[in-house]
Amino acid sequence: MTNVTPTLTPKPWISGIAPYVPGKSAGADGRALIKLSANENPLGTSDAARAAFTAAQDAADALSRYPDPGSNLLREAIAARFGLDPARVICGNGSDELLHLAAGTYAGAGDEILYVRYGFAVYEIAARRVGATPVEADDRDYATDVDALLAAVTDKTRVVYLANPNNPTGTLATREEVTRLHAGLPKDVLFVIDQAYAEYLAPDEDDGGLELAKTEPNVFVTRTFSKIHGLAAERIGWGYAASDVISALHRIRLPFNVTRAGQAAAVAALGDDDFVTRSREHNASWRAWLAREIEGLGNHGLRVVPSATNFLLVLFEGSVSAETVYNRLMDAGYIVRWLPGQGLPHALRMTIGTEEETRGLAAAIRAALAG
Ligand SMILES: *Cc1c(COP(=O)(O)O)cnc(C)c1O
Repeated sequence: MTNVTPTLTPKPWISGIAPYVPGKSAGADGRALIKLSANENPLGTSDAARAAFTAAQDAADALSRYPDPGSNLLREAIAARFGLDPARVICGNGSDELLHLAAGTYAGAGDEILYVRYGFAVYEIAARRVGATPVEADDRDYATDVDALLAAVTDKTRVVYLANPNNPTGTLATREEVTRLHAGLPKDVLFVIDQAYAEYLAPDEDDGGLELAKTEPNVFVTRTFSKIHGLAAERIGWGYAASDVISALHRIRLPFNVTRAGQAAAVAALGDDDFVTRSREHNASWRAWLAREIEGLGNHGLRVVPSATNFLLVLFEGSVSAETVYNRLMDAGYIVRWLPGQGLPHALRMTIGTEEETRGLAAAIRAALAG
């Protein structure tokens, strides 16, 4: 036997993962920038949620005791708010954890996990992490193409992810499209509808995902407190599916996955409809304003993808590149998201900020195009 030193080697499917790139908040020189790169709520957090969070943190045993592993009060509050069965609500360390649980529970080596091109970046990582093969269906001018997704289903498909509305494109598949996609999927495929931006939708834009999850055995809807509720720091997500799906997901869930103060803050956030409404209205009007400003910039080849979210995806189809504008915006103090790693080197994703931030961003884009 030759004396070869053994080397520690990650599994090949793990080595194949390109790590998730979070939105930046500082420039290369460490200078703080106005952060419009992570789709956070520019209005902050509901006062009620902040008060509940602080009270939970102030308890004498706040640090020494484990949080409630079942997130019971939070699941009850979610169920009451949305007319659901609390036993079928599962909470996660952000909805990211729940997206990973879906892949880990239903797919492995030799299986396929399907989503649309320019889908949420976590899907590819979740697929590769469990040794499954990620499969991308063609988009339709940056939007979800239900026919392309259905055509890409094979007998190896185990999970289909659909972010609706989608990040980073901002596009929304209609209720009719979501229903048709579900109807066309085999019953042994888990259909994950990732509704991270659902609260930004007008009532008539609801994609019907939660209604499907109430009755269909293979639909898993995920939501988050990170976006409109402004609780991104505490990592709180939730999901809803049939009992069989939920109990399977629980087998591999981390037992203490949501912090105690986070659970308390989320319960209070659910009770503050005013904050959610204010956030939605602020977003809708400044999103429309920013889209008009960008479309009014003249002959620079900029195109705004129609958005149902708290951000805009802007395509740079003229002579000034997205990368150039990205760097000039950074020099001007604004950090947006440039996504060359997701096949979008020609686009920038911009979160809707406060009025001041949004006006400032529009002026900075105008200046960046001028050179
Ligand atoms: C932000 C986002 C999430 C997840 O957020 P968590 O903070 O993990 O809850 C999930 N899906 C999409 C499409 C998102 O944009």
